[in-house]
Amino acid sequence: MQAYAYLLKEESEQQLLDKLLPKTHPLLQPDPQQLYLCIHCRQVISDQQQLLAVRGSHEHYRINPAGADFRFLCLKRADGCRIEGPATTEASWFSGHCWQFAHCSHCDAQLGWYFSGEQPHFFGLIKSKLLLELAG
Ligand SMILES: [Zn+2]
Repeated sequence: MQAYAYLLKEESEQQLLDKLLPKTHPLLQPDPQQLYLCIHCRQVISDQQQLLAVRGSHEHYRINPAGADFRFLCLKRADGCRIEGPATTEASWFSGHCWQFAHCSHCDAQLGWYFSGEQPHFFGLIKSKLLLELAG
């Protein structure tokens, strides 16, 4: 009976692993269980279901007029963000879009930008400001 119980336990652990380990590349098949957290305070900012391909890619690399470079992800929604400042088209990385700052609503760190104006509206969040974590 004990051996039987042990086998059952082993099987359920393997099933758990199957659920946790992505079967395909996460960029090809976004996994809703993966969350993006603020790297400073670990508040949940968004999740991989919100990834959005903008002009052919959901990841972009841009350099601002001051020479700082950023690698960021495009997300439809980022409920853990607060949008700050007036919308401007000045030096916009996406023509037709204006931008505002996107801050963590908990610790106020700047995590990226919110792009609006033209459709689609989206968040561009800096990869190095986010932690990726499995939900649950
Ligand atoms: Zn934060």
